Amino acid sequence: MQIAVVGGGVVGLSVAWRLVSAGRRVVLVDPAPTTGASWVAGGMLAPVTETWPGEEGLLPIGSASLESWPAFAGELRSAAADPGLRTDGTVVAALDAADAAQLETLAEHLASLGREVERLPGRALRALEPGIGPSIRSGLLVPGDLAVDNRELLRGLHKANRQAGVDFVAASAAAVRGGGVELADGSTVDADVSVIAAGAWSGRLHPALGGLVRPVKGEILRLRGRPGALPPPGRTVRALVESRSVYLVPRSGGELIVGATQYEAGFDTDVTVAGVRDLLADAERVLPGTGEYALVECAAGLRAGSRDNLPLIGWLEPGVLVATGHHRNGFLLAPLTAAAVLALLDGRPHPAPVTDPARFRKGET
Ligand SMILES: Cc1cc2nc3c(=O)[nH]c(=O)nc-3n(C[C@H](O)[C@H](O)[C@H](O)COP(=O)(O)OP(=O)(O)OC[C@H]3O[C@@H](n4cnc5c(N)ncnc54)[C@H](O)[C@@H]3O)c2cc1C
Repeated sequence: MQIAVVGGGVVGLSVAWRLVSAGRRVVLVDPAPTTGASWVAGGMLAPVTETWPGEEGLLPIGSASLESWPAFAGELRSAAADPGLRTDGTVVAALDAADAAQLETLAEHLASLGREVERLPGRALRALEPGIGPSIRSGLLVPGDLAVDNRELLRGLHKANRQAGVDFVAASAAAVRGGGVELADGSTVDADVSVIAAGAWSGRLHPALGGLVRPVKGEILRLRGRPGALPPPGRTVRALVESRSVYLVPRSGGELIVGATQYEAGFDTDVTVAGVRDLLADAERVLPGTGEYALVECAAGLRAGSRDNLPLIGWLEPGVLVATGHHRNGFLLAPLTAAAVLALLDGRPHPAPVTDPARFRKGET
């Protein structure tokens, strides 16, 4: 059985690797694999700190996927390269009284879902992360929310797929149907089953996805510590700064990722002055030492959002599966997505039925 995967971001590469490891013949169609939103992402694996009242659907699937992460990272480390999984956890900081009240709402909401998090006064936060500034008033410790180096992961997955025999076709898909993938140049890639994993661009590839997948722009910065500057934190630091959310994710080698803005701006990927200004200003209020860092990259990417911001993983028609719509959590959900696609191909029950695109066909949402 030949499987065509369309899209080589974290989702398509993870799906392809799971399928080829299970003995399937896989061809991956993408003019520029390892790019897309995946190349710019923060790499947080954060089902708890991404949870918010009204978005409860993420917590169970995100937690299930997070459980798979250590094994997923370990397999990749043995097969190709170390994806830099960081297990130091996350702290969440609040700047002013309104931010602290919002964090309290989050803590209470998590407690109501059976997830207790530890509340910490500013002093205790600074004991954990000495770089946190004096104006931070309080926070939470969330030891289970982890992070991965998005770029090391993509390089590793690309290499693992090539080594395992995945055939990469450097071309753009124009449409996906039962029977295969129609390429932009008019040729086709025949396949028994095709998997649409083209992120924010997926909606263009199959009529059933029209209006279901939208691009959600996000800007993000890469800083690098310099000699004499305070070292980056040991954990991911998330914060609310006058109601804006900002996160700082350390990478080995002294880089610090600062993200991220979120706008509904179509397919625009310009990095705006205001976006960079706010991220830098908020980062500096949380970790004052970042003012001495080098600003090495400003980038924007397009998350794929569905109507309820949960992924779309399931059959669109016989021979066509979709795996997209991961919005802010494509890295977190990559192992679960890959396992779900394999289960569906094997005719086993969907391990995350809440993501089945049939929920929209039934008019439930
Ligand atoms: C600023 C920012 C920060 C983020 N931070 C996090 C985070 O901390 N944690 C987390 O879990 N998630 C995060 N995300 C979300 C995450 O990046 C996405 O959910 C994830 O990258 C989606 O992966 P994907 O493979 O579906 O899509 P993409 O990474 O966008 O990849 C899509 C691929 O499809 C290809 N493609 C497009 N059109 C076609 C076509 N017609 N034919 C063939 N190929 C095509 C592209 O070339 C690309 O390689 C962040 C996103 C952004 C923008």
